[in-house]
Amino acid sequence: MKKECPSCAMEIDQTDEVCPICGYEFPQSRRLIKPVTWVLVLLLLLPFIRLVLRLLIRLIE
Ligand SMILES: [Zn+2]
Repeated sequence: MKKECPSCAMEIDQTDEVCPICGYEFPQSRRLIKPVTWVLVLLLLLPFIRLVLRLLIRLIE
């Protein structure tokens, strides 16, 4: 099986996760984890965002 690299349009092996010609990284297995990762990142960043917003409000007032 061959697949086409979206970066350099070369046909490379289906199992290749990184294009050997241009180094493009295929987001194969990451696609499933991505939404979960985003939720986790948001949850982790939420207190920080709140803090920054509070500081900004204080600066404006
Ligand atoms: Zn490529």
